[in-house]
Amino acid sequence: MTNEAANNRSPSRSTLSKAERSRILLAVDEAFEKQVAFLSELVRCASLRGQEAEVQEIMEAALHERGYLVDRQAIDTALIGQHPAFSPATVSYENSWNVIGTHIPVVAQGRSLILNAHVDVVPTGDPDRWQDPPFKPTRRGDWLYGRGSGDMKAGMSAAIFALDAIKAAGLELTASVQIHSVVEEEITGNGAAMALASGQTADAVLIPEPTDEKLIRANSGVIKFAVTVHGTPAHPREVSSGVSALEAAVRLIDHLRNLEARWNEEQNTRPYFNDVENPAALTIGTITGGEWIASVPSSCRFEGRIGFYPGDKPQDRMKEFEAFVATIAADDPLVQRCPEPLVQWVGVVQPGYTLAPGSEAESVLAQAYLDANASDGPSLEACVMAAYLDAALYTVHAGIPSLVYGPIAEKIHAIDERVSLSSLRRVTKTIALFAVEWCGVRRASDKNPAAVI
Ligand SMILES: [Zn+2]
Repeated sequence: MTNEAANNRSPSRSTLSKAERSRILLAVDEAFEKQVAFLSELVRCASLRGQEAEVQEIMEAALHERGYLVDRQAIDTALIGQHPAFSPATVSYENSWNVIGTHIPVVAQGRSLILNAHVDVVPTGDPDRWQDPPFKPTRRGDWLYGRGSGDMKAGMSAAIFALDAIKAAGLELTASVQIHSVVEEEITGNGAAMALASGQTADAVLIPEPTDEKLIRANSGVIKFAVTVHGTPAHPREVSSGVSALEAAVRLIDHLRNLEARWNEEQNTRPYFNDVENPAALTIGTITGGEWIASVPSSCRFEGRIGFYPGDKPQDRMKEFEAFVATIAADDPLVQRCPEPLVQWVGVVQPGYTLAPGSEAESVLAQAYLDANASDGPSLEACVMAAYLDAALYTVHAGIPSLVYGPIAEKIHAIDERVSLSSLRRVTKTIALFAVEWCGVRRASDKNPAAVI
């Protein structure tokens, strides 16, 4: 990640008094143990792909309890299949749905906002390698451990409790605010795509992914592939008559490292990506192959992802990838003995995005960050993330400025994932102050609904 100072141009400030601002911050502090308990409840749900029902039921209840208009939104592939935000779907979404909670203001005068967070998590790896069971939220000092604690159930709790704090301070937001609790971020982005395709828009989106309290200036586009290699099976007594699909696949992966290197070299010509370590980041996530311990394997399949730069069309990168595989299939002495490997697109196919410096949304967030932390402390930093983010969909396909900013977390997608609770508290405060300044507020006790602060 590379850092830069985020835009600190002073936004037009509301006339919210210092005392009211302090009341909001205090309300975050007062409810913080409740927030950690809620976060723990979310972490306890093993919301792996296709198993998000339990956590979404908790989300639905939490939003209902707070008086939001709540919609359980099925992922309708027939609808999103027509939308450019859609990525190839390879599984049924029967047990996966979004939950959308909407605050409808008594008087709508401000700028609307979407707070988006995904509830799906990635597999844990061997649970015995964790200090504690991965779905047993465990608190140690400043850290809460558990799969999904950082990526990104903490962010979800920040969104909900930030809005709670505004209410607890006797204030009411004067613009529509939607909480998008979405599925599928870790694989296709089709949860956020569904929310977008159904017409849910706003003047800004804030996504509290774990960003170490920095703002994401740009992220990479990503394509996710599966490659199947067929060999020729054989008995050990006549190995030379066979071709190992597994060895050919490993050879192909070695060659793909050259494609990764080639795409990485482009970073010098791309804004913001100059100092990013491995922006293309070819990751081979799974490999399966072979049928029998004493046979030359007849097939092998591996899956992975590779990144590229904002502004590039994913379709062009897919063609480049397919052409590269075809060249290896023709030229490599081992791979050429197999039928041409089959490339399939099985996950996210989306471009990257850039948050253009100088937006009002960024400016308001930078000021909220200062107000929630020490106002004489360091400014909000911006950095680049070489990974897919749902923010790309809102920005690229709907032109909505997307702010990705969230807590400090470690070991996400790894073993002993954890989130810093002091960081979560600061982020919750920043989001609360951001929402107030972005959406505008009125005093809930004011009898005149038009009496906006
Ligand atoms: Zn995430």
